[in-house]
Amino acid sequence: MRVSKQRIEEDLKYLAQFSADTGGKGITRLPFTPEDRACREAIIKKFKAAGLHVYTDGIGNIYGRREGKRPDLPPVMIGSHLDTVINAGIFDGPAGVVAGLEVVRVLNDLSIQTERPLEVANFVIEESTAFGKSCVGSRAVAGVLDYDELARLKDKNGRSLQDAFKEHGVTKKEIEATRREKGSIDSYIEMHIEQSDNLIKAGKPVGLVTAIAAATRFQVTVKGQASHSGATPMGERKDALCAAAEIILGIEKIAAAEAGNETVGTVGNVTVKPGAINVVPGEAVLAIDLRDIDKADKDKAAEKIIALFESVGKEREVQVEYLITASDTPVPASPRVLGAIKNAAREVDIPHLVMHSAAAHDAAYLAEVADMGMIFIRSYGGSHNPDEWAEFEDVAMATEVLLEATLRLSS
Ligand SMILES: [Zn+2]
Repeated sequence: MRVSKQRIEEDLKYLAQFSADTGGKGITRLPFTPEDRACREAIIKKFKAAGLHVYTDGIGNIYGRREGKRPDLPPVMIGSHLDTVINAGIFDGPAGVVAGLEVVRVLNDLSIQTERPLEVANFVIEESTAFGKSCVGSRAVAGVLDYDELARLKDKNGRSLQDAFKEHGVTKKEIEATRREKGSIDSYIEMHIEQSDNLIKAGKPVGLVTAIAAATRFQVTVKGQASHSGATPMGERKDALCAAAEIILGIEKIAAAEAGNETVGTVGNVTVKPGAINVVPGEAVLAIDLRDIDKADKDKAAEKIIALFESVGKEREVQVEYLITASDTPVPASPRVLGAIKNAAREVDIPHLVMHSAAAHDAAYLAEVADMGMIFIRSYGGSHNPDEWAEFEDVAMATEVLLEATLRLSS
Protein backbone atom coordinates (compact mmCIF):
# COMPACT_ATOMS: atom_id res chain seq x y z
CA MET A 1 0.00 0.00 0.00
CA ARG A 2 1.11 3.50 -0.80
CA VAL A 3 -0.91 5.15 1.98
CA SER A 4 0.45 5.18 5.51
CA LYS A 5 -1.72 3.51 8.13
CA GLN A 6 0.48 5.10 10.79
CA ARG A 7 -0.07 8.67 9.57
CA ILE A 8 -3.84 8.09 9.35
CA GLU A 9 -3.92 6.65 12.88
CA GLU A 10 -1.86 9.53 14.27
CA ASP A 11 -4.10 12.13 12.62
CA LEU A 12 -7.35 10.58 13.82
CA LYS A 13 -6.04 10.28 17.39
CA TYR A 14 -4.68 13.82 17.22
CA LEU A 15 -8.03 15.30 16.05
CA ALA A 16 -9.85 13.31 18.76
CA GLN A 17 -8.12 15.49 21.40
CA PHE A 18 -10.27 18.45 20.37
CA SER A 19 -13.29 17.66 22.47
CA ALA A 20 -15.42 18.99 25.28
CA ASP A 21 -14.97 17.13 28.56
CA THR A 22 -17.04 13.95 28.20
CA GLY A 23 -15.67 12.12 31.24
CA GLY A 24 -14.03 9.59 28.96
CA LYS A 25 -17.22 8.82 27.02
CA GLY A 26 -16.06 9.46 23.48
CA ILE A 27 -15.65 12.92 21.99
CA THR A 28 -17.99 15.89 21.66
CA ARG A 29 -17.22 18.65 19.17
CA LEU A 30 -20.21 20.85 18.46
CA PRO A 31 -20.08 23.84 16.10
CA PHE A 32 -18.96 27.29 17.35
CA THR A 33 -17.35 25.87 20.52
CA PRO A 34 -13.70 26.41 21.54
CA GLU A 35 -12.93 22.75 20.73
CA ASP A 36 -14.46 23.16 17.28
CA ARG A 37 -12.37 26.30 16.64
CA ALA A 38 -9.22 24.54 17.86
CA CYS A 39 -9.92 21.57 15.59
CA ARG A 40 -10.45 23.87 12.61
CA GLU A 41 -7.11 25.57 13.31
CA ALA A 42 -5.44 22.16 13.67
CA ILE A 43 -6.69 20.91 10.30
CA ILE A 44 -5.65 24.17 8.62
CA LYS A 45 -2.13 23.67 10.02
CA LYS A 46 -2.09 20.08 8.77
CA PHE A 47 -3.31 21.15 5.32
CA LYS A 48 -0.60 23.80 5.14
CA ALA A 49 2.07 21.34 6.30
CA ALA A 50 1.08 19.12 3.35
CA GLY A 51 1.63 22.06 1.02
CA LEU A 52 -2.05 22.82 0.44
CA HIS A 53 -3.29 26.32 -0.28
CA VAL A 54 -6.03 26.89 2.33
CA TYR A 55 -9.17 28.96 1.82
CA THR A 56 -12.64 29.12 3.36
CA ASP A 57 -15.97 29.92 1.71
CA GLY A 58 -18.78 32.18 2.93
CA ILE A 59 -20.24 29.76 5.46
CA GLY A 60 -16.85 28.62 6.80
CA ASN A 61 -16.24 25.34 4.96
CA ILE A 62 -12.47 24.82 4.83
CA TYR A 63 -10.67 23.76 1.63
CA GLY A 64 -7.05 22.80 1.02
CA ARG A 65 -6.08 23.04 -2.66
CA ARG A 66 -3.28 21.23 -4.45
CA GLU A 67 -2.69 22.74 -7.87
CA GLY A 68 -2.90 20.58 -10.97
CA LYS A 69 -1.02 20.85 -14.26
CA ARG A 70 -4.24 22.42 -15.57
CA PRO A 71 -5.34 24.92 -12.88
CA ASP A 72 -8.22 26.01 -15.10
CA LEU A 73 -9.96 22.60 -14.82
CA PRO A 74 -12.60 21.99 -12.13
CA PRO A 75 -10.98 20.13 -9.22
CA VAL A 76 -11.50 16.65 -7.84
CA MET A 77 -12.67 17.14 -4.27
CA ILE A 78 -12.34 14.78 -1.31
CA GLY A 79 -14.16 15.72 1.87
CA SER A 80 -16.30 15.08 4.91
CA HIS A 81 -16.89 16.81 8.26
CA LEU A 82 -15.11 17.39 11.56
CA ASP A 83 -18.07 18.20 13.83
CA THR A 84 -19.50 15.36 15.90
CA VAL A 85 -22.57 14.33 17.88
CA ILE A 86 -22.41 14.26 21.71
CA ASN A 87 -20.25 11.33 22.96
CA ALA A 88 -19.19 10.38 19.47
CA GLY A 89 -16.54 8.04 18.16
CA ILE A 90 -13.40 9.37 16.46
CA PHE A 91 -14.15 8.22 12.89
CA ASP A 92 -17.54 9.60 11.83
CA GLY A 93 -16.50 12.57 9.73
CA PRO A 94 -12.78 12.97 10.48
CA ALA A 95 -11.92 9.73 8.63
CA GLY A 96 -12.97 11.32 5.32
CA VAL A 97 -11.01 14.53 5.88
CA VAL A 98 -7.88 12.71 7.07
CA ALA A 99 -8.12 10.36 4.06
CA GLY A 100 -8.09 13.35 1.71
CA LEU A 101 -5.05 14.72 3.48
CA GLU A 102 -3.30 11.34 3.24
CA VAL A 103 -3.99 11.15 -0.51
CA VAL A 104 -2.24 14.52 -0.87
CA ARG A 105 0.75 13.39 1.21
CA VAL A 106 1.16 10.24 -0.89
CA LEU A 107 1.09 12.32 -4.09
CA ASN A 108 3.72 14.58 -2.53
CA ASP A 109 5.86 11.55 -1.58
CA LEU A 110 5.61 10.20 -5.12
CA SER A 111 6.11 13.66 -6.72
CA ILE A 112 2.93 13.23 -8.75
CA GLN A 113 1.26 16.32 -10.12
CA THR A 114 -2.26 15.50 -11.34
CA GLU A 115 -3.84 17.16 -14.37
CA ARG A 116 -6.78 18.44 -12.40
CA PRO A 117 -6.38 20.35 -9.14
CA LEU A 118 -7.28 18.45 -5.96
CA GLU A 119 -9.14 19.93 -3.03
CA VAL A 120 -9.66 18.47 0.44
CA ALA A 121 -12.77 19.81 2.17
CA ASN A 122 -14.25 20.03 5.66
CA PHE A 123 -17.96 20.91 5.58
CA VAL A 124 -19.39 22.68 8.63
CA ILE A 125 -22.30 21.49 10.80
CA GLU A 126 -22.92 18.13 9.18
CA GLU A 127 -24.47 16.76 12.38
CA SER A 128 -27.92 17.98 13.41
CA THR A 129 -27.08 17.66 17.12
CA ALA A 130 -26.66 21.34 17.98
CA PHE A 131 -29.29 23.05 15.81
CA GLY A 132 -31.52 20.24 14.52
CA LYS A 133 -30.37 20.54 10.90
CA SER A 134 -27.87 18.31 9.15
CA CYS A 135 -25.42 19.02 6.30
CA VAL A 136 -25.62 22.80 6.72
CA GLY A 137 -22.28 23.57 5.03
CA SER A 138 -22.87 21.26 2.08
CA ARG A 139 -26.46 22.47 1.61
CA ALA A 140 -25.03 25.99 1.27
CA VAL A 141 -22.59 24.76 -1.39
CA ALA A 142 -25.54 23.20 -3.25
CA GLY A 143 -27.51 26.45 -2.90
CA VAL A 144 -30.36 24.77 -1.00
CA LEU A 145 -29.87 26.32 2.45
CA ASP A 146 -32.81 28.57 3.36
CA TYR A 147 -31.43 31.57 5.27
CA ASP A 148 -34.79 32.45 6.85
CA GLU A 149 -35.16 28.94 8.23
CA LEU A 150 -31.91 29.39 10.17
CA ALA A 151 -33.69 31.86 12.49
CA ARG A 152 -36.07 29.09 13.58
CA LEU A 153 -33.34 26.52 14.29
CA LYS A 154 -32.24 26.90 17.93
CA ASP A 155 -29.69 25.22 20.15
CA LYS A 156 -30.45 24.15 23.70
CA ASN A 157 -29.68 27.67 24.99
CA GLY A 158 -32.24 29.20 22.62
CA ARG A 159 -29.63 30.74 20.30
CA SER A 160 -30.67 30.50 16.68
CA LEU A 161 -28.34 29.20 13.99
CA GLN A 162 -28.83 32.49 12.16
CA ASP A 163 -27.61 34.43 15.23
CA ALA A 164 -24.68 32.06 15.74
CA PHE A 165 -23.65 32.65 12.14
CA LYS A 166 -24.07 36.42 12.48
CA GLU A 167 -21.77 36.43 15.53
CA HIS A 168 -19.16 34.87 13.25
CA GLY A 169 -19.70 37.36 10.43
CA VAL A 170 -21.79 35.01 8.29
CA THR A 171 -24.85 36.82 6.94
CA LYS A 172 -27.29 36.06 4.14
CA LYS A 173 -24.81 37.47 1.63
CA GLU A 174 -22.03 35.09 2.72
CA ILE A 175 -24.36 32.09 2.64
CA GLU A 176 -25.56 32.95 -0.84
CA ALA A 177 -21.96 33.40 -1.97
CA THR A 178 -21.18 29.85 -0.74
CA ARG A 179 -23.25 28.36 -3.57
CA ARG A 180 -21.18 26.78 -6.33
CA GLU A 181 -22.09 26.47 -9.97
CA LYS A 182 -22.95 23.01 -11.26
CA GLY A 183 -19.80 21.52 -12.75
CA SER A 184 -17.43 23.91 -10.94
CA ILE A 185 -16.28 20.84 -9.00
CA ASP A 186 -15.47 17.95 -11.34
CA SER A 187 -16.09 15.18 -8.86
CA TYR A 188 -16.57 14.72 -5.13
CA ILE A 189 -15.62 11.61 -3.18
CA GLU A 190 -16.51 11.15 0.47
CA MET A 191 -15.00 8.35 2.53
CA HIS A 192 -17.03 7.56 5.66
CA ILE A 193 -17.54 4.75 8.14
CA GLU A 194 -20.55 2.59 7.37
CA GLN A 195 -23.23 3.19 9.97
CA SER A 196 -24.80 -0.25 9.80
CA ASP A 197 -23.27 -3.73 9.74
CA ASN A 198 -23.42 -4.82 6.10
CA LEU A 199 -19.63 -4.80 5.73
CA ILE A 200 -19.18 -6.76 8.96
CA LYS A 201 -21.69 -9.37 7.76
CA ALA A 202 -19.99 -9.57 4.36
CA GLY A 203 -16.52 -9.79 5.93
CA LYS A 204 -15.28 -6.94 3.70
CA PRO A 205 -13.29 -3.90 4.85
CA VAL A 206 -14.48 -1.49 2.15
CA GLY A 207 -17.85 -0.54 0.62
CA LEU A 208 -18.46 1.12 -2.74
CA VAL A 209 -21.63 3.18 -2.55
CA THR A 210 -24.14 3.10 -5.41
CA ALA A 211 -26.69 5.53 -3.94
CA ILE A 212 -27.70 7.42 -0.84
CA ALA A 213 -31.19 6.50 0.36
CA ALA A 214 -33.86 9.04 1.28
CA ALA A 215 -37.09 8.99 3.26
CA THR A 216 -40.75 9.78 2.82
CA ARG A 217 -42.44 10.18 6.19
CA PHE A 218 -46.09 10.23 7.16
CA GLN A 219 -47.88 11.15 10.33
CA VAL A 220 -51.22 9.36 10.28
CA THR A 221 -54.19 9.86 12.59
CA VAL A 222 -56.85 7.15 12.58
CA LYS A 223 -60.10 8.36 14.13
CA GLY A 224 -62.69 5.80 15.19
CA GLN A 225 -65.10 5.77 18.08
CA ALA A 226 -64.11 5.26 21.71
CA SER A 227 -66.71 3.10 23.46
CA HIS A 228 -67.21 0.65 26.32
CA SER A 229 -65.18 -2.53 25.78
CA GLY A 230 -67.82 -4.67 27.45
CA ALA A 231 -70.98 -3.06 26.14
CA THR A 232 -70.04 -2.51 22.47
CA PRO A 233 -70.77 -5.61 20.33
CA MET A 234 -68.02 -6.65 17.94
CA GLY A 235 -70.08 -5.79 14.89
CA GLU A 236 -70.72 -2.23 16.03
CA ARG A 237 -67.20 -1.06 16.78
CA LYS A 238 -65.09 1.59 15.10
CA ASP A 239 -61.80 0.47 16.62
CA ALA A 240 -59.03 2.91 15.57
CA LEU A 241 -56.24 0.58 16.71
CA CYS A 242 -57.53 -2.41 14.73
CA ALA A 243 -57.63 -0.16 11.65
CA ALA A 244 -54.10 1.06 12.46
CA ALA A 245 -52.95 -2.56 12.81
CA GLU A 246 -54.18 -3.30 9.28
CA ILE A 247 -52.31 -0.25 8.03
CA ILE A 248 -49.10 -1.32 9.82
CA LEU A 249 -49.19 -4.85 8.37
CA GLY A 250 -50.13 -3.43 4.97
CA ILE A 251 -47.05 -1.19 5.00
CA GLU A 252 -44.87 -4.17 5.86
CA LYS A 253 -46.30 -6.06 2.88
CA ILE A 254 -45.96 -3.11 0.49
CA ALA A 255 -42.34 -2.47 1.46
CA ALA A 256 -41.42 -6.16 1.39
CA ALA A 257 -43.16 -7.29 -1.78
CA GLU A 258 -44.91 -4.58 -3.74
CA ALA A 259 -42.30 -1.86 -4.30
CA GLY A 260 -38.55 -2.02 -5.04
CA ASN A 261 -35.90 -4.48 -3.87
CA GLU A 262 -34.40 -1.90 -1.51
CA THR A 263 -37.64 -0.38 -0.20
CA VAL A 264 -37.97 -0.42 3.60
CA GLY A 265 -41.03 0.72 5.51
CA THR A 266 -41.32 1.11 9.27
CA VAL A 267 -44.02 2.18 11.70
CA GLY A 268 -41.81 3.09 14.63
CA ASN A 269 -44.33 4.77 16.87
CA VAL A 270 -48.00 4.31 17.73
CA THR A 271 -49.98 6.39 20.21
CA VAL A 272 -53.38 5.05 21.24
CA LYS A 273 -56.15 7.12 22.80
CA PRO A 274 -57.66 6.98 25.30
CA GLY A 275 -55.34 4.04 26.04
CA ALA A 276 -57.40 2.19 28.65
CA ILE A 277 -58.00 -1.56 28.99
CA ASN A 278 -61.75 -1.16 29.12
CA VAL A 279 -62.21 1.28 26.22
CA VAL A 280 -62.31 0.47 22.49
CA PRO A 281 -59.53 2.70 21.06
CA GLY A 282 -60.96 5.90 19.59
CA GLU A 283 -57.78 7.25 18.03
CA ALA A 284 -54.37 5.97 16.90
CA VAL A 285 -51.48 8.11 15.66
CA LEU A 286 -48.77 6.39 13.59
CA ALA A 287 -45.30 7.57 12.54
CA ILE A 288 -44.31 6.00 9.22
CA ASP A 289 -40.81 6.03 7.75
CA LEU A 290 -40.41 4.83 4.17
CA ARG A 291 -36.96 4.69 2.57
CA ASP A 292 -35.48 3.76 -0.75
CA ILE A 293 -32.51 4.43 -2.98
CA ASP A 294 -34.80 4.62 -6.02
CA LYS A 295 -37.19 7.56 -6.25
CA ALA A 296 -39.68 5.80 -8.54
CA ASP A 297 -39.88 2.77 -6.21
CA LYS A 298 -40.31 5.02 -3.18
CA ASP A 299 -43.04 7.03 -4.90
CA LYS A 300 -44.78 3.83 -5.93
CA ALA A 301 -44.71 2.54 -2.34
CA ALA A 302 -45.97 5.91 -1.06
CA GLU A 303 -48.91 5.80 -3.50
CA LYS A 304 -49.83 2.30 -2.38
CA ILE A 305 -49.64 3.35 1.26
CA ILE A 306 -51.97 6.28 0.61
CA ALA A 307 -54.40 3.95 -1.19
CA LEU A 308 -54.20 1.66 1.83
CA PHE A 309 -55.24 4.53 4.14
CA GLU A 310 -58.31 5.04 1.98
CA SER A 311 -59.32 1.39 1.70
CA VAL A 312 -58.87 0.67 5.41
CA GLY A 313 -60.77 3.85 6.29
CA LYS A 314 -63.68 2.87 4.05
CA GLU A 315 -63.83 -0.76 5.08
CA ARG A 316 -63.69 -0.07 8.80
CA GLU A 317 -65.65 3.16 8.72
CA VAL A 318 -62.91 5.17 10.41
CA GLN A 319 -61.35 8.44 9.33
CA VAL A 320 -57.71 8.22 8.23
CA GLU A 321 -55.95 11.59 8.01
CA TYR A 322 -52.33 11.87 6.97
CA LEU A 323 -49.60 14.44 6.71
CA ILE A 324 -46.47 13.93 4.60
CA THR A 325 -43.75 15.27 6.92
CA ALA A 326 -40.78 14.54 4.65
CA SER A 327 -40.30 13.62 1.01
CA ASP A 328 -36.63 13.55 0.09
CA THR A 329 -35.05 12.37 -3.12
CA PRO A 330 -32.55 9.49 -3.10
CA VAL A 331 -29.22 10.36 -4.69
CA PRO A 332 -27.46 7.89 -6.98
CA ALA A 333 -23.67 7.95 -7.24
CA SER A 334 -22.39 9.27 -10.56
CA PRO A 335 -21.73 6.27 -12.86
CA ARG A 336 -18.40 7.86 -13.88
CA VAL A 337 -17.18 8.28 -10.29
CA LEU A 338 -18.56 4.92 -9.13
CA GLY A 339 -16.86 3.34 -12.15
CA ALA A 340 -13.55 4.93 -11.21
CA ILE A 341 -13.93 3.73 -7.61
CA LYS A 342 -14.81 0.18 -8.75
CA ASN A 343 -11.83 0.04 -11.11
CA ALA A 344 -9.63 1.44 -8.35
CA ALA A 345 -10.73 -1.21 -5.84
CA ARG A 346 -9.99 -3.95 -8.40
CA GLU A 347 -6.64 -2.40 -9.34
CA VAL A 348 -5.38 -2.18 -5.74
CA ASP A 349 -6.98 -5.58 -5.04
CA ILE A 350 -8.88 -4.69 -1.91
CA PRO A 351 -11.92 -6.82 -0.91
CA HIS A 352 -15.07 -4.75 -1.23
CA LEU A 353 -18.84 -4.81 -1.28
CA VAL A 354 -21.00 -2.79 -3.67
CA MET A 355 -23.77 -1.36 -1.52
CA HIS A 356 -25.93 1.66 -0.82
CA SER A 357 -25.88 4.15 2.01
CA ALA A 358 -28.89 4.01 4.30
CA ALA A 359 -27.78 7.20 6.08
CA ALA A 360 -27.52 10.74 4.67
CA HIS A 361 -24.17 12.47 4.04
CA ASP A 362 -22.74 15.76 2.75
CA ALA A 363 -22.15 13.83 -0.49
CA ALA A 364 -25.90 13.89 -1.21
CA TYR A 365 -25.74 17.71 -1.46
CA LEU A 366 -22.40 17.86 -3.26
CA ALA A 367 -24.09 15.72 -5.92
CA GLU A 368 -26.02 18.87 -6.89
CA VAL A 369 -22.84 20.50 -8.16
CA ALA A 370 -20.38 17.65 -8.81
CA ASP A 371 -20.27 14.02 -9.94
CA MET A 372 -20.44 12.19 -6.62
CA GLY A 373 -19.17 8.93 -5.17
CA MET A 374 -18.69 7.46 -1.69
CA ILE A 375 -16.42 4.86 -0.12
CA PHE A 376 -17.43 3.13 3.13
CA ILE A 377 -15.18 1.73 5.84
CA ARG A 378 -16.24 -1.28 7.91
CA SER A 379 -17.16 -0.02 11.37
CA TYR A 380 -17.87 -1.88 14.58
CA GLY A 381 -20.24 -0.66 17.29
CA GLY A 382 -22.37 1.43 14.92
CA SER A 383 -21.78 5.17 14.99
CA HIS A 384 -22.84 8.26 16.94
CA ASN A 385 -21.66 6.56 20.13
CA PRO A 386 -18.32 6.12 21.96
CA ASP A 387 -18.10 2.43 20.94
CA GLU A 388 -17.91 3.29 17.22
CA TRP A 389 -14.67 1.73 15.98
CA ALA A 390 -12.93 1.08 12.69
CA GLU A 391 -9.64 -0.79 12.42
CA PHE A 392 -6.92 1.59 11.17
CA GLU A 393 -5.97 -1.14 8.69
CA ASP A 394 -9.48 -0.89 7.20
CA VAL A 395 -9.29 2.93 7.08
CA ALA A 396 -5.95 2.62 5.28
CA MET A 397 -7.38 0.14 2.75
CA ALA A 398 -10.33 2.42 2.01
CA THR A 399 -7.89 5.32 1.61
CA GLU A 400 -5.82 3.26 -0.85
CA VAL A 401 -8.97 2.81 -2.98
CA LEU A 402 -9.64 6.55 -2.62
CA LEU A 403 -6.09 7.36 -3.75
CA GLU A 404 -6.37 5.19 -6.85
CA ALA A 405 -9.83 6.56 -7.71
CA THR A 406 -8.53 10.12 -7.27
CA LEU A 407 -5.63 9.43 -9.64
CA ARG A 408 -8.07 8.11 -12.24
CA LEU A 409 -10.45 11.05 -11.93
CA SER A 410 -7.76 13.73 -11.84
CA SER A 411 -5.72 12.63 -14.84
ZN1 LIG B 1 -20.73 11.66 9.33
